[in-house]
Amino acid sequence: MINKVDHIGVAVKSLEQSLPFYTDVLQLELAGVENVESQKVRVAFIKVGETKIELLEPTDQESPVAKFIEKRGEGIHHVALGVESIEDRIKEISEKGIFMIHDTPKTGAGNALVAFMHPKSTGSVLFELCEKKEGEGHE
Ligand code: ZN
Repeated sequence: MINKVDHIGVAVKSLEQSLPFYTDVLQLELAGVENVESQKVRVAFIKVGETKIELLEPTDQESPVAKFIEKRGEGIHHVALGVESIEDRIKEISEKGIFMIHDTPKTGAGNALVAFMHPKSTGSVLFELCEKKEGEGHE
């Protein structure tokens, strides 16, 4: 059902300042950069085998990521679990008493469907459910 850790989200103040550590020091591949309007972030995906690191740079002070950095500084922000049939997973998890931040999936980076669980329900880990639609070519 949950088939892998799809990516790990890391909050950064600046992609430009953070990227060289990943691409030059660790010599990982930058898979792409995109704006995610709904979260007011600019996102860079770095490939680590099958998994990715998602660097999140806030583009607005109202971004949830900006608030995160303000409170806790830069660092690990969320863990994204790759799933199939995200709507069924949300229903299942909710029925077990876990509070979802999103009851219905949102479109996130890479055109994936995403939904976050509330950290109060998960031992303070912000988990994202993430379903890839890539390669389908239709909605
Ligand atoms: Zn993510």
